[in-house]
Amino acid sequence: MVTKFFPLIFPAPVLEQVRQRLAVADKQVIDETITGFTYAMQAVGYTPSLHQAGCLILSECQNCKSSYATRYEMKHHFYFACPHCQTITKGIFKAAIWNQREENRLITTKGEEFWHSEGRTVYDRKHKQSYEVDERGNLTQDDIPDYVLGRIDTAHLEDAERRRLAWIESAD
Ligand SMILES: [Zn+2]
Repeated sequence: MVTKFFPLIFPAPVLEQVRQRLAVADKQVIDETITGFTYAMQAVGYTPSLHQAGCLILSECQNCKSSYATRYEMKHHFYFACPHCQTITKGIFKAAIWNQREENRLITTKGEEFWHSEGRTVYDRKHKQSYEVDERGNLTQDDIPDYVLGRIDTAHLEDAERRRLAWIESAD
């Protein structure tokens, strides 16, 4: 999967708010590069993901190779944002939380069990594999249907996707 990086542009009032917070912050605990950026991200609605010890989850930025790519969450998606090149990745849906829910189980015409992940993607828990469901309800991988698995009722699939979108929308 090729990751895309979108430029992060913070509105002037957000930057002003960041300046004010930094002015009163304890200089012992702030990091020049990261702290102001974290404040700005929080101001526009992102929550930083934290390690159990309470520190930020940092990794190498795949865009500029700095070591400041920081993990954030919003509405059941996670993101990597970089204070160095001021970019953010596309959100990655936390499908693992969604497809643990009993109501997201989908049974095929052959009695096989799948779990709704996102859009037309379903997950086979037993074999840890994902499939795309085509318009006829066939389970496909690389556009090749696996007829042995049977078909999924596309109305059930669409209902699961509608519930997922409502779930994301209701997140704070
Ligand atoms: Zn970067």
